[in-house]
Amino acid sequence: MVMTTLMNTYGSRSLTLVRGEGSRVWDQNGNSYLDAIAGIAVCGLGYSHPAITAAISEQAATLLHVSNLYNIPQQQHLADLLIDQSGMDRVFFSNSGAEANEAAIKIARKYGNDKGVKNPTIIVMSGSFHGRTLATLSATGNAKVQIGFEPLVEGFVRVPYDDVDAIKAAASEHANIVAILVEPIQGEGGIRIPAADYLNQLRDLCDRNEWLLMLDEIQTGNCRTGAYFAYQNNNIKPDVVTTAKGLGNGVPIGACLARGKASEVLQPGNHGTTFGGNPLACSASIAVMETLIEGNYAARVKALGEKLLSAFKTAFAGNSKVVDVRGCGLLLGIELNAPCADLVEKGRSKGILINVTSGNVVRLLPTFILTDEEVEELITKVVELVTEF
Ligand SMILES: *Cc1c(COP(=O)(O)O)cnc(C)c1O
Repeated sequence: MVMTTLMNTYGSRSLTLVRGEGSRVWDQNGNSYLDAIAGIAVCGLGYSHPAITAAISEQAATLLHVSNLYNIPQQQHLADLLIDQSGMDRVFFSNSGAEANEAAIKIARKYGNDKGVKNPTIIVMSGSFHGRTLATLSATGNAKVQIGFEPLVEGFVRVPYDDVDAIKAAASEHANIVAILVEPIQGEGGIRIPAADYLNQLRDLCDRNEWLLMLDEIQTGNCRTGAYFAYQNNNIKPDVVTTAKGLGNGVPIGACLARGKASEVLQPGNHGTTFGGNPLACSASIAVMETLIEGNYAARVKALGEKLLSAFKTAFAGNSKVVDVRGCGLLLGIELNAPCADLVEKGRSKGILINVTSGNVVRLLPTFILTDEEVEELITKVVELVTEF
């Protein structure tokens, strides 16, 4: 199907999915696929989850939208759930991940300007991904995302990921640093997992310099790594954390959470949105969060992740094409020794949806609701794919 009335941002797309249930989706010809990328880290609770469907239907029949000129009880309820899970103090709701990061970047800048720092600057990482708006693509550490959109937004200093000394060196060159913006694990960047104490060291550095530690958990949040937020694996708290993808399980919503002084930075008139935090999106997310919490999905994700990781490590031991197998919870990467984008198509013909990122990393982001049979199916099909590569 050629869709010439759509801007060509996604190239040609050969697969048309029309229905989903549990961890499976169906195309228009009735073929089914095990979705091992869950809508790119969005549908952790799978497709057509009854609690989420019910919450959306009920809210749609009651009140779809009111503006942020009025109290929105669903927004307050969802904020309370997020605060309870995160240990943060206040929440701003947006419609997407990039917008949640925009809020974080605005907080860092105003925090700096309020304390008299001229041209407040944020440290960002090589290999990072923070979104496609002008500020977030400028913060992103991937030339492909930036080329053609110059001039980029100023106020970012880039250092290598997982390198605390590089941050110290940057700080000695720039007196106007106000924050660090970093992913606890780089998702788009190839499932890069930093040293176990990286976030702890960043926390320490931020405390000593009065910088804000701002974590982009748009992909890693909402139980994806086996804790509600990935920073909980390190027993630290950031000053700002953003999330989106899994929060609405498919209904567009993002959130920027802040703590302490960072939570008081934005005041009336400083920021806003027409749709962010509307009753429909918040009702869906309340159902998502209640399901995740009551079902103790963080523990389930941790166990499922360990099972998959050890199965892949065993299967690929001694396979010279496999450079590395890594993961945290249900965020898994299999790094191959050559570009492997064509595995996506090969996967489809085997009835499984996978993703390839960074050219040579098979990225798996399955749902949290895989049955035992689906776990076996996923392992068998991915092992076959990589072995035949
Ligand atoms: C997906 C993603 C974003 C962008 O989110 P959008 O909802 O597409 O704007 C930002 N940061 C990270 C880490 C992401 O994975």
